[in-house]
Amino acid sequence: MRKQIAAANWKMNLTLEEANELLNKIVAENIELSHGQEAVFAVPFPYLLLANETIKNTKGFYTAAQNCYLKESGAYTGEVSPSMLVSCGVPYVIIGHSERREYFNENNFILSQKIDICLKNNLKPIFCCGEPLAVRESETQNNYVETQLKESLLHLDASEVENFVIAYEPIWAIGTGRTATAGQAQEMHEHIRKVFAEKYGDDVAQSISILYGGSVKAANAREIFGKKDVDGGLVGGASLNAAEFSEIIRSLKK
Ligand code: PEP
Repeated sequence: MRKQIAAANWKMNLTLEEANELLNKIVAENIELSHGQEAVFAVPFPYLLLANETIKNTKGFYTAAQNCYLKESGAYTGEVSPSMLVSCGVPYVIIGHSERREYFNENNFILSQKIDICLKNNLKPIFCCGEPLAVRESETQNNYVETQLKESLLHLDASEVENFVIAYEPIWAIGTGRTATAGQAQEMHEHIRKVFAEKYGDDVAQSISILYGGSVKAANAREIFGKKDVDGGLVGGASLNAAEFSEIIRSLKK
């Protein structure tokens, strides 16, 4: 059974005090996650240790970094390696968010190197893919996303891809308030699963958790997560509100 995940991407928001208050409020909701359900908090680097401490007694809650570097260690001022994150007890990292691709020139080749080093260090990537508006308007989104997957992930072995986590985030829906319809999300998720099934077989494809991201809120989460190939969401804006994100976590499929 593949995992259902509600992942919060706080991006570059909140002071330490605000971050602490937000996470404590969500923990205080006492959300009971079933086996196979997870809530993941991608908080800014300086807050990871505190976040781990805050969630340590809450079943199914985990932390994530929002990025990492593609080298093991060395003279790379300002960067953070996968082994550093693992040594801080961080199990997940977001790789290839569209904001990293756009503002920090991370291309599919760079991202494939990041994926490799994460897996080598047992840090679980949440790999983001998704098309810009012009691609959606020209109805070539399936090919666009397929290329992202091919160039960053499909060199991996089946054992590395098993239980992998992908986030499909159409760029035109991120932070815009314009959500893909549940039908559009399902269509792309089905396509992504097919790409993996063709390369690795159906069992591996069925083990992959595919999250939807793009203006998910409490009001639309249940409908989107209810689709067959949607295994939860990666949530930006709405994850900064305790009541909203708690409701999004409760919207996960059992
Ligand atoms: C994101 O940052 O990954 C995201 C989906 O943002 P938002 O939910 O604000 O659209």
